[in-house]
Amino acid sequence: MDLLYSEEHKAFRQEVRDFIAATLPGDMRQRLRAGGFAAKADTERWQRALNQRGWGAPAWPKAFGGTGWDAAHQQIFADECAAAPAPPPHIFNITMLGPVIIHFGSDAQREYFLPKLLNADIQVCQGFSEPGSGSDLASLKTAAVLDVENGGDEYVVNGQKIWTSQAHYADWVFALVRTDPNAVKKQAGISFMLIDMKSPGVTVRPIISIDGRHSLNEVFFDNVRVPAANLVGEENKGWDYAKFLLGHERAYIAGIGRNKERVACAKDLLAKLEADGHPMSEVAGWRGRVALIEADLHALEVTQLRMHGGHADMKLSPMLKARGSEIFQAITDVICRLSGLEALRADGVGGPTLTKSFLYSRAVSIFGGSTEVQKNILSATVLSLP
Ligand SMILES: Cc1cc2nc3c(=O)[nH]c(=O)nc-3n(C[C@H](O)[C@H](O)[C@H](O)COP(=O)(O)OP(=O)(O)OC[C@H]3O[C@@H](n4cnc5c(N)ncnc54)[C@H](O)[C@@H]3O)c2cc1C
Repeated sequence: MDLLYSEEHKAFRQEVRDFIAATLPGDMRQRLRAGGFAAKADTERWQRALNQRGWGAPAWPKAFGGTGWDAAHQQIFADECAAAPAPPPHIFNITMLGPVIIHFGSDAQREYFLPKLLNADIQVCQGFSEPGSGSDLASLKTAAVLDVENGGDEYVVNGQKIWTSQAHYADWVFALVRTDPNAVKKQAGISFMLIDMKSPGVTVRPIISIDGRHSLNEVFFDNVRVPAANLVGEENKGWDYAKFLLGHERAYIAGIGRNKERVACAKDLLAKLEADGHPMSEVAGWRGRVALIEADLHALEVTQLRMHGGHADMKLSPMLKARGSEIFQAITDVICRLSGLEALRADGVGGPTLTKSFLYSRAVSIFGGSTEVQKNILSATVLSLP
């Protein structure tokens, strides 16, 4: 894919590579290479290191502490972080909430939240999904009622969210709430609100996923009082902001860089099989499979660059998300199979984390909107099918 990049881009790539080599702690690299999560402390440590270098928010405008980089620089940076592998800039803070506050938030919200998001002084989570309102997100029921009788300075929030990643250690949740239960169109009665997780009435219950790990939670709101100043943008316009946010989330989940790192990992395993004396006849089929996955990945990367280059718009993010998820699942499957018993071993870099990462990879085509739903959106918005 180097043909797409100029000499200046290549020099920038080297600069990023050198920075990561000098700054990324070895234990963090090792954990991610084995398919593990970046722990809370990892994310904090890395986000702060990036922020100190001025690279904390690759896609934010300079005026708000971002880099002001063009699409190619952003892609190179994301690729190099993933290749290391290093954690990307904080997904909920930087990729999702930051742009919403920049575009739709108040000056006070920008002033209070953006520097803290940038330096991971606070970590946020996403309170969108509810039981029965996942794919049909606009049917959500968590209600926020303005307490007019007591001056109208606060909302009272009641309801439940589910599958809330990292709610067990997040400081704030950005939540979609119903502020107009009578709106004719259900999308028109939703608002976007920032809720302090330490507020009285917020309860978090863990959900342990099939990989045995705790990243998911249920979050309950029981008469939680939220300052009206924490409403982002206009009341009942939350659906517009949510769609804007989901565009960023879906483009991120496409995970071009992370997929490249996984392809490189599969190639290393193939090289090891050959070095260990496995016959070419055995390895060739796997090499073919990895090559096909890599070809799909190149195609996806070019599509993503077109999108960032302004030739297409955020409407394409459902396609990036759906294809990127399929590629991630395919390459994770290959890595697991090539690792054989190593994938199940209780120690070593290719230890149980690899099986856990395989199990978690099943969720990539679900979170951020399932693949089926992405295809529905594509057919309606891009292909204009009924
Ligand atoms: C690991 C993980 C992390 C998550 N993190 C978060 C988070 O941090 N915050 C958050 O708010 N949510 C989070 N989610 C929730 C996620 O966004 C939802 O799971 C997702 O949107 C699907 O909703 P659902 O689970 O209710 O499934 P359902 O909507 O019940 O869907 C069930 C099945 O039906 C299919 N389906 C549904 N509607 C249609 C349709 N119209 N056409 C065709 N097929 C359809 C779906 O594709 C799916 O296969 C997470 C989920 C997972 C698994």
